[in-house]
Amino acid sequence: MPGILTGTALRAFVHALPKVELHVHLVGSASLPTVLELARRRPSAGVPTEPSELAEFFTFRDFPHFLRNYLAVTSLVRDARDIHTLVTGLAADLAAQNARYAEVTVTPYNHVLDGMPSDDLLTGLATGRAAARADHGVELAWCFDIPGEKGVVAGRETVVFALRERPEGLVSFGLGGPEVGVGRAQFAPFFTAAREAGLHSVPHAGETTGPATVWSAVHDLGAERIGHGVGAHTDPALLEYLAVQRIPLEVCPTSNVRTGQFASIAAHPVRRLLDHGVLVTLNTDDPPMFGATLDGEYVAVAETLRLTAAEIALLAKNAVEAAFLPSADKTALTAEIEEILLQDPELLA
Ligand SMILES: [Zn+2]
Repeated sequence: MPGILTGTALRAFVHALPKVELHVHLVGSASLPTVLELARRRPSAGVPTEPSELAEFFTFRDFPHFLRNYLAVTSLVRDARDIHTLVTGLAADLAAQNARYAEVTVTPYNHVLDGMPSDDLLTGLATGRAAARADHGVELAWCFDIPGEKGVVAGRETVVFALRERPEGLVSFGLGGPEVGVGRAQFAPFFTAAREAGLHSVPHAGETTGPATVWSAVHDLGAERIGHGVGAHTDPALLEYLAVQRIPLEVCPTSNVRTGQFASIAAHPVRRLLDHGVLVTLNTDDPPMFGATLDGEYVAVAETLRLTAAEIALLAKNAVEAAFLPSADKTALTAEIEEILLQDPELLA
């Protein structure tokens, strides 16, 4: 069929698109060499210090197993230098994907609970963000999120920290961790406070549970964009609501497959979401842990769904639309995407 790209032409076209990443966790973005370096610095933390064992460590049986290992990696991050290393490592990886802007989820409660002075966290974020811009041409923004499994105590402390410190680049407030047994509604007061202070609401919902969690994120937490949200796919009324309200979903296909939510990209509901007019964006979540890249997510979805170049470009434009960026930046990025589309994609190969 005309317009459907494959192989080298597809990969070159995807790479040429200026991209926006809206769902990536700072700790989860650590590349294997970075994790290895941190693990060797702190061998007692229980994270493997040999490459082959670390690769095994990153093979997850299920979502709880993933979460346990993720928290073990979190415990390796202790000071401003570690945070700076994480941020600049992520920026280098984003630049390699031709990603220009990312909203990065940071979980202050976990770091501070692990003993990091909050000034170290803020300093590492600030210096890392400046270096990302200067050295890699990547603009970063922050989402401070509540680790849901730590309950309302973590919710309260996270919002107090976010609103007191309000670091430059902080644009949104989130909620992560497990969904089973961790109702969204209990965090409503913290989201209300964050929204009243001008932060955007972007909770995870519908990653490991169904439509009820997504409805709760919308009604109880005022979600303006939803982390994952794929659990909405079984509820036509919810799909229509998300489409009409233009509430974007931060879809992370490879992450969902690797944590066992879906057997394959082919079995993933991304097609159904698109068919219902939902504003789908593609993201990586915890890229090295899942063997994912942003280019790779676009390629995998395009190949599986047999998307045309225009449909792939639309996904990139969706991410721009869903970003909390000034409108002038959005206009410029969208224009650049349109320009790439006007070139013959075969010539990009
Ligand atoms: Zn996530």
